[in-house]
Amino acid sequence: MTRARQGAWDVAVIGAGMSGMAASLFAAERGLSCIQIGSGGGILFASGLLDLMGVQPAAEGLVWRSPYAALAALAREQPDHPLARVDAGSIRAAFESFVTALGAAGIAYAPLGDRNRSVLTSIGTIKTTFGVPRAMVAGAYALEARPSCLLVDFRGLREFSARQIVATLGAGWTGLRHERIEFPGCDAVPELYAAHLARALETRETRERTIALLQPLLGDVHVVGLPAVLGLGRSDEVHAAFEKGLGVPVFEIPTMPTSVPGLRLLGALEEAVSARGVSRRVHADVRSLAFDGQGGMAALILEGVSGGERVLARSVVLATGRFTGRGLTADRGRVREGLLGLHVHQPASREAWHQRDFLAPSGHAINRAGLLVDDAWRPLDAGGNPVWPRLFAIGSILAHQDWMRSKCGSGLAIATAWAAIEQAAREIRATVSG
Ligand SMILES: Cc1cc2nc3c(=O)[nH]c(=O)nc-3n(C[C@H](O)[C@H](O)[C@H](O)COP(=O)(O)OP(=O)(O)OC[C@H]3O[C@@H](n4cnc5c(N)ncnc54)[C@H](O)[C@@H]3O)c2cc1C
Repeated sequence: MTRARQGAWDVAVIGAGMSGMAASLFAAERGLSCIQIGSGGGILFASGLLDLMGVQPAAEGLVWRSPYAALAALAREQPDHPLARVDAGSIRAAFESFVTALGAAGIAYAPLGDRNRSVLTSIGTIKTTFGVPRAMVAGAYALEARPSCLLVDFRGLREFSARQIVATLGAGWTGLRHERIEFPGCDAVPELYAAHLARALETRETRERTIALLQPLLGDVHVVGLPAVLGLGRSDEVHAAFEKGLGVPVFEIPTMPTSVPGLRLLGALEEAVSARGVSRRVHADVRSLAFDGQGGMAALILEGVSGGERVLARSVVLATGRFTGRGLTADRGRVREGLLGLHVHQPASREAWHQRDFLAPSGHAINRAGLLVDDAWRPLDAGGNPVWPRLFAIGSILAHQDWMRSKCGSGLAIATAWAAIEQAAREIRATVSG
């Protein structure tokens, strides 16, 4: 575990969603002592797929094969978008570092390269993404080549229907068919849950019985797709056992949130940050934050820790998310930043928050509200000045982006975390040596 030097942490990360996890990971990898405060955020609802930049401009729904070409277009068309302000080299380094950490924590990713991939969703639509877990990547190849493919589901698992996917896609994929099997030992159970199946498949006996049920269904198929239930903490091992047992590539399709891949991702990130010595306060919240502490430190007051806790830090990374994360709140008139009351860039009036057409392709202005930052990722006050020299803001709380529409959620989190931690490291070195 890294320790606070002279009673203060180099970095205090507020938030444990994708951006807070990435910042904690990168800070520890740079040798900075780091404390992270907060619980899992939106990660639990994620699919394990790491989007970088899939759609640009979002209003036109233009899907890009290369996320880096999409980012170059973004830089030309929306230079104030946070992802347009991180150079491609840093984004590559950030993603490599992030997936390497996930691999060491039990979720191997397919080599990233320079291209987006298309993957199947649980309702038979196609999603464009960048980082694909190895257990899902055969599905991306299958979607391209459309070989004979068997999709299988389990009776009682309501979150996933192979039949529905075939109904949606079958017309353009003649070799696609589906089967339904009983999950071993669950013949009398009316409703099954993906996480329970995933845990059960970590035992060799259940795995072998499931593989034995699948073998007679294979016929001449080249690839088999299953709901994402191939193990919880040991998914690489379970996936490999299915491929060996069936003798064809096997891929997982994420089920509806909260999905097993979301649980795996959260578990792997928790393990990765802890293994790098990040000190975590999982059930705590930062109640207040003051910057006039001794020696130019930030003082954070925590709640949810028995007896309360006061934390001193040389730098602070605000990774508190948007409305669901609680980083932003909205009352009848304005959007506010929840912890410090920071200036929020937003439409001039509430009437301008939403378009009249809920499904308008250009999205809603409220989704692009958020914090403005300078080139060093420091939030700006209403006068355009940094609030504090070593307060940084990252992830979905930032203004000028609509990550859902651009398919860039993880990319925004990972890239801005990398860039802000680079700045924090620079500032801390200057403070310590100066
Ligand atoms: C349903 C769903 C599906 C998704 N699917 C994908 C996907 O397929 N691919 C992809 O790339 N991305 C996906 N994402 C997006 C991604 O996982 C992240 O949620 C997104 O990038 C935002 O992350 P964030 O860290 O900025 O915010 P959040 O995830 O909202 O995290 C904010 C954190 O801050 C904490 N916090 C707030 N205030 C305080 C405080 N005062 N003290 C301490 N902690 C505080 C919250 O508890 C939370 O932990 C999905 C997200 C959702 C919700």
